[in-house]
Amino acid sequence: IVHVGDTNNDESGGSPTNSQVNNNSTDYLKNVLTEMLDNLALSQDIQKQRQAVYKDLDSAIDEDHQRKVVVDDVSELINRNIETIQKEKEELQVFIRKTTGQLEEIEEYVRKSRQDRIDTVSESSMLKDSVEANVDIIQSTVGDAEEINQLKSDVQDHLKEIRKSVEEYQTAETERENMSKQGYAHIIGELARTQKETLMLKEQLHESKQKMLRDPLTGLPNRMAFDERIALEINRCKRNNENICIAMWDIDHFKKVNDTYGHDAGDRVLKLLAKIIQTRVRTVDMFSRIGGEEFVLLMPDTSLDNALSLNDQLRDSLANSGFHYDGAPCPITASVGIARIEEYDNSESVMRKADEALYKSKREGRNRCTIYTPEV
Ligand code: GH3
Ligand code: MG
Ligand code: MG
Repeated sequence: IVHVGDTNNDESGGSPTNSQVNNNSTDYLKNVLTEMLDNLALSQDIQKQRQAVYKDLDSAIDEDHQRKVVVDDVSELINRNIETIQKEKEELQVFIRKTTGQLEEIEEYVRKSRQDRIDTVSESSMLKDSVEANVDIIQSTVGDAEEINQLKSDVQDHLKEIRKSVEEYQTAETERENMSKQGYAHIIGELARTQKETLMLKEQLHESKQKMLRDPLTGLPNRMAFDERIALEINRCKRNNENICIAMWDIDHFKKVNDTYGHDAGDRVLKLLAKIIQTRVRTVDMFSRIGGEEFVLLMPDTSLDNALSLNDQLRDSLANSGFHYDGAPCPITASVGIARIEEYDNSESVMRKADEALYKSKREGRNRCTIYTPEV
């Protein structure tokens, strides 16, 4: 509270006259009052009142009867200012409470979001937007109330905390996202590598199975391939009673070919036979090398008569192939035994029948085809 009117201070020194005392006291009082008015931080309506008091100070302070009025005016102005400040302070306290509450809510939300590890990037940017919008509101509010330092520093602290939380959250999110991206890429890579390896293994397996099922010299299916196929055909015959025939081939006096012209000549004969038959049969037929110079032609959907006529043409082609070795003619013939797969047959029984027919061909002079009959 301001006390005014005590004018007995003596600043001039010495022993002044009455009028000097009066003048000096008046100046002193005027200076004190002016300084007090200058130092008041006033709201707008009080500022207008202050201008009036300044004028009174200038004009009326010298007159005794006016002095008290002026002092009262200053006193009232100061008291009004104190009331105004008190009111502003109460309003600001309400504001601080409200703002602090809002900030705590935001902080809590951010902390919870961070803990909950929001999964998607869009959610995390929503969080960022929402917090930043709040931060902006708070910043503008702080701007309006800047003369209250405590409020300012409280709010700034909260803002820092929110920014820190958001940044930490985003860093963690980005890290997590990168990690899962890396993990995903790694898995995809591994998967692709495994798929490639599996494909390669499959190809290798297919290739080695093909090799396993082929005769390397002639390129024909071998005994193993033939056994697989005849088993299928026997089942088919049992289901549909189809006409399926086999013809067993054996090169005549092959031992003599080897002995006369050499093993290499024998190999060429084997390849020649393979080529002649392979180029003439249907794709559904299967010509296999089942032993040294023994072959079997499997003919689905073929009657015994048709099998005989086909194999006889093939036998004739071989006999007339004009095979030469080292410039000398080297006639090659083969004998053939033909049998039909019956419902009751298995692969051994049908092979035995074809073999019996083949030996009848051999017995009867070779270079011929014989159909199996029970009495052969
Ligand atoms: P036949 O008219 O009674 O069938 O008389 P053959 O001489 O053909 O019969 P044999 O079974 O006595 O002879 C088969 C010969 O086939 C014996 C073997 O040296 C020969 N041979 C088997 N495999 C091969 C081969 O891969 N290459 C060659 N060059 N000869 C082979
Ligand atoms: Mg033989
Ligand atoms: Mg032979």
